[in-house]
Amino acid sequence: MIDWSAIDTVLLDMDGTLLDLHFDNHFWQHHLPRRFAEHHGLDPETSMRELHERFAREQHRLQWYCTDYWSAQLGLDVTALKREVAHLIAERPRASALLEQLGARGRHRILITNAHRDSLNLKLSRTLIGAGLDRVISSHDYGMPKEDPAFWQRLAAEVSFDPRRTLFIDDSEPVLDAARDYGIAHLLCVSQPDSRRDHRAQLRFPALADFDDILPVI
Ligand SMILES: [Mg+2]
Repeated sequence: MIDWSAIDTVLLDMDGTLLDLHFDNHFWQHHLPRRFAEHHGLDPETSMRELHERFAREQHRLQWYCTDYWSAQLGLDVTALKREVAHLIAERPRASALLEQLGARGRHRILITNAHRDSLNLKLSRTLIGAGLDRVISSHDYGMPKEDPAFWQRLAAEVSFDPRRTLFIDDSEPVLDAARDYGIAHLLCVSQPDSRRDHRAQLRFPALADFDDILPVI
């Protein structure tokens, strides 16, 4: 699936790639709506409807990923609410093994995430992935999400990598589209970002079911 001799840098997404998206799905679809309803005295159905309308407006924009934005919009401390369900934060199977092998084989390992620094720090504190990364970049540092072509220009200006010798793994097709348009040569999607949901079929990029599909790193 991967010719490791052709790759010296690996860019990795966090949520749904290195980490199980179950935490995020549970948080945004169950925990936050419940707390939002309690806080504002709404019935669960009205709470859900209102949140879904707000979420739909912001998808793929940087604000969608911004805990400060949602805290202000919803009148809740979103980071504190995430801590309430932090026990659900988990690595996808073999994520640490992949990072460890990449490091041992001299590949540069860079996390690029749309997660806000608050969420990023919470997840790094609850998992072991931080030890397996050479660099951690949040798109909030640049003020634009990974879906934006300008993100890739900025990344290339700050980090030395050859797009022709770079592998990027992400569970989002719009993000992979932007990476392909920039010229990243090796792209992989994740077929099952959330361990509690089915594998996705008909993805537009080659997809890995499990990191074992691309291990060992040689
Ligand atoms: Mg993701």
